[in-house]
Amino acid sequence: MQAPSIIARATSAAAFKTANLRLSSLNRQFSSSNSIMAPITKECDYLVIGGGSGGLASARRASGWYGAKTIAVESKELGGTCVNVGCIPKKLIWNAASIAETIHESKAYGFSVNTTAPFDWLAFKNKRDAYIKKLNGIYEKNLNNDKVEYIAGRAHLTGKNEAEVVLNDGTKQTIKAKKILLATGGHPTIPQNIPGSEYGVDSDGFFKIEKQPKKVALVGAGYIAVEFAGMFNALGSETHLFIRHDKFLRTFDPMVQDAIVAEYERVGVKIHKNSSQSKVEKDEKTGKLTIHYKDSNGEGKLENVDDLVWAIGRSPEVEDLGLEKVGVKQNEKGQIITDEYQNTNVENIYSLGDVIGKVELTPVAIAAGRKLSDRLFGPEKFKNSKLDYNLIPSVVFAHPEVGSIGLTEPEAVEKYGKDNIKVYNTSFTALYYAMLEQEDKGPTKYKLITHGPEEKVVGLHILGLGSGEILQGFGVAVKMGATKADFDSCVAIHPTSAEELVTLK
Ligand code: FAD
Ligand code: NDP
Repeated sequence: MQAPSIIARATSAAAFKTANLRLSSLNRQFSSSNSIMAPITKECDYLVIGGGSGGLASARRASGWYGAKTIAVESKELGGTCVNVGCIPKKLIWNAASIAETIHESKAYGFSVNTTAPFDWLAFKNKRDAYIKKLNGIYEKNLNNDKVEYIAGRAHLTGKNEAEVVLNDGTKQTIKAKKILLATGGHPTIPQNIPGSEYGVDSDGFFKIEKQPKKVALVGAGYIAVEFAGMFNALGSETHLFIRHDKFLRTFDPMVQDAIVAEYERVGVKIHKNSSQSKVEKDEKTGKLTIHYKDSNGEGKLENVDDLVWAIGRSPEVEDLGLEKVGVKQNEKGQIITDEYQNTNVENIYSLGDVIGKVELTPVAIAAGRKLSDRLFGPEKFKNSKLDYNLIPSVVFAHPEVGSIGLTEPEAVEKYGKDNIKVYNTSFTALYYAMLEQEDKGPTKYKLITHGPEEKVVGLHILGLGSGEILQGFGVAVKMGATKADFDSCVAIHPTSAEELVTLK
């Protein structure tokens, strides 16, 4: 999700799109005032429910490239989770936290940087929110540009080729569609069985926090908990991370788990291992929270907590979607079941992105959405178009970043047998840290896993500065089927950290 290029595209056609935008909102006003008198029924080739990463990508391709009459319905802000309460605002805070680290480290490089005031959380938040608002507008303009009709409202299925949309002003429209895409994403979950859990916020609420907490507690062990904990800590909040086991990021390679847990402990994140929470209390006068918990050290209570953030996973946004009405099948987690072509069990109803729970990442939703539109509305050559869900790289914006593509070592052992894989490891101190005091030096660790005599790379796991940017390029090589010899045949770029990946022994 590269916002700058979106901005560039939008600016180049600004006048045309602004005119379109006005026309579209006039149309919407007309439609909604009209609907008070008589229910409106619209018809289209493609109805997309959910204006997030996957829905927008699919709608724009269907209409903009292939001319399908497309309607996209979104009940909140355009752009979905990633733009509004996910990747984009998260990465901006990660940038702020990285700057805080750089300011600290700059002294070692001879700078005398003295900050005269603490990090201005609220000013930063306001600026970040304004940027997101601008993006929302750009997304609407892009829809107009691609001639997708955008309806602000909440949709539910009323038949196999029909949905009802309740507009934001309460009026209703019926939409008949030849094909329907369900791209409704998910929402964060908060535990129901812990008294006082409602005093905490979820990841959506995290983005609304107006004052930097002096003391913050996070519960969870996945991407979100680890990213948020790293950012709070780097920005100077006393950070407590409650995890159910003794490691976090447990779906990652053990090398990553061990190194990142050790690094978080080294930089001062207070990790409560093997923990559970029994109660959360709020002092109504001060607003401070007390968390009653059990961890490896026994029972305890954490007092004077300014904010508690639950980051224990997400659920599909399907509750009011009318799936039962048309018989769309869901799994035990409520996620919509599709085949590899994004077909649900109901003809002409498709689904993708977080709501199917396969790989919950923005580029995955976007790629699946575009491939689907290629297949449904594109030329004959795309009739079997589908997203290949194998070898998808991902990065956790922890401190430092962690990147991964392919199999972990235990997965590779299970799939190929221990004797048929070869594992290369390296652990070193990046040159950036050469000027820093010993206690400020962070880790860099890479692991490459190959299979068979030809040593095809089946897993790559990297932790250290710049891992997000490094992995994108190496991801291409791995996806192309690179072998260890291919890695070795690429001459190193010196001095970088990534060069260690082409000189592994
Ligand atoms: P969404 O983007 O969630 O869009 C679904 C949309 O459907 C929503 O806008 C919702 O309002 C709308 N909707 C739901 N029901 C209805 C209805 N009945 N009618 C009308 N509209 C409806 N991924 C990355 O790749 N990189 C990251 O760095 C990253 N960071 C993240 C950080 C956080 C805190 C979170 C929560 C997620 C992050 N993700 C990241 C994941 C990423 O945001 C999601 O994978 C992605 O947004 C999924 O896209 P989607 O289209 O499936 O769903
Ligand atoms: P995740 O599924 O990544 O992690 C949630 C974890 O929390 C679980 O794996 C579990 O780990 C732990 N957990 C579950 N229940 C509890 C509980 N009751 N108490 C304590 N811990 C619990 O979910 P997230 O919400 O972090 O993120 C959702 C998805 O969004 C991610 O999977 C990812 O696909 C996407 N995302 C991507 C990002 C990126 O690309 N950088 C950033 C943020 C999100 P355990 O079993 O170890 O206890």
